[in-house]
Amino acid sequence: MTEAPTASGEPREDLDAFRTRAKEWVTANLQPLNGADPALGHATDDADHVIRVKAIQRKIWDAGFAGLCYPAEYGGQGLPAAYQDAFIEVSYGYELPRLFNTPTFTIILPTILDFGTEEQKKRFIPAALKGEELWVQFLSEPTGGSDLAGALTRAERDGDEFVLNGSKIWSTYAWKSDYALCVARTDWDVPKHRGLSVLIVKVHQPGITITQIKHVDGTEEFCQEFFDDVRIPARDVLGQVNDGWNVASRLLLHEREAVSGSSPYAMAPRTAARENDQVGAAALAQVSGGADDPRVRQLIGEARVLTRVHTALVGRIATSIRTGRLPATAGSIPRLSNGVMRVRLATIAIDIAGDRAVAWHDGDPVGELGVAYLGRQGVCIGGGTLEITRNIISERVLGMPREHAEDLDRPFREVRTNTPTQRNRS
Ligand SMILES: Cc1cc2nc3c(=O)[nH]c(=O)nc-3n(C[C@H](O)[C@H](O)[C@H](O)COP(=O)(O)OP(=O)(O)OC[C@H]3O[C@@H](n4cnc5c(N)ncnc54)[C@H](O)[C@@H]3O)c2cc1C
Repeated sequence: MTEAPTASGEPREDLDAFRTRAKEWVTANLQPLNGADPALGHATDDADHVIRVKAIQRKIWDAGFAGLCYPAEYGGQGLPAAYQDAFIEVSYGYELPRLFNTPTFTIILPTILDFGTEEQKKRFIPAALKGEELWVQFLSEPTGGSDLAGALTRAERDGDEFVLNGSKIWSTYAWKSDYALCVARTDWDVPKHRGLSVLIVKVHQPGITITQIKHVDGTEEFCQEFFDDVRIPARDVLGQVNDGWNVASRLLLHEREAVSGSSPYAMAPRTAARENDQVGAAALAQVSGGADDPRVRQLIGEARVLTRVHTALVGRIATSIRTGRLPATAGSIPRLSNGVMRVRLATIAIDIAGDRAVAWHDGDPVGELGVAYLGRQGVCIGGGTLEITRNIISERVLGMPREHAEDLDRPFREVRTNTPTQRNRS
């Protein structure tokens, strides 16, 4: 597991001086959000959004605040996590390049740091920190996202290239991205975990078709991709061929840290708790006129307790993992807490806002809570479902017995799937 550097010598500048310098720079150079959606900033459309976040990230790079916890040899600043915390603190309420946060900075780059060749690290990490390249994850498949090791998308060696065929789904903002990490099957004659490889894929290239999926809350950030004889240079395998499960498992650890809000590489507020604390239930009650209602006050108290407990849990687990008191898989604990908390917070918000959040007039910000409520379950699915998270906590943190699986020791070619034709084409 990649650690944010803590023991690599004293930082050149003490934390207070850094905080002051960062605050001055942020105030002078980043735009206040002034009510704009933190995820979208002041962008007017999708194309503008991408150009805008890339430009903001470039500004941050030019000022020397990009990749605070990344090693200096790959374009970072090599600082401890507390410096990243300080930057996030002083930039709260300003437009940040959040699109880079997940998965680029918190999931993909840490995985490249762990498994990349020197050439891959030097090629991809600085480019992303400069705001030039956004990444997406091609993991889930139409046949099942939880069973990541059951991937049917295949990559076959052809000289100096791999040829990719199959389909991925639920990829967040694939069409806005430049590169993807893709899990593909490269050997069908070994058990499922041993025949996978992780490929670095250029998203916009011949053979890749991307379609957007419309969700119940009106968003269209999810995509499905179809791969038809996509050619990928063999040097773009991350880690070893057929050792992709090892790479994917590490990527999932980084993802749990990212989703739970405990990644040291996040460039924007790490926890929903932080945001909900600031613009939370109490403010909502004021706007909705229910601040004196004892039932509403109880809900405000519950929201406050949930966010405080979650924030404390994130800090405690992150520290325990860094100091080796807990295994890295313990990142699943705040991931579970985050999912449970956010669903409850979305429900509390609706309870406080009442019918204004169910049927609203254009421009009434309270109406956005209704949309958020429709999409609340996403946080319990993305980055691995809460059911799988509970399995991980029981098996890999608490040491309880593994759940039974029929397919663990069989050659994958013999494992029954619901799309046999795809399997036999290899
Ligand atoms: C906000 C969001 C962002 C996402 N972004 C991406 C992305 O960028 N790239 C990407 O590849 N994917 C992405 N996904 C997809 C996500 O990773 C998958 O949806 C997830 O892994 C679940 O897979 P599935 O939807 O196929 O459900 P399934 O795997 O079919 O599971 C269905 C249900 O069965 C339960 N279940 C399955 N197996 C077990 C088991 N062994 N024990 C207990 N319960 C089980 C699951 O928990 C779930 O409740 C995203 C999803 C969301 C919601």
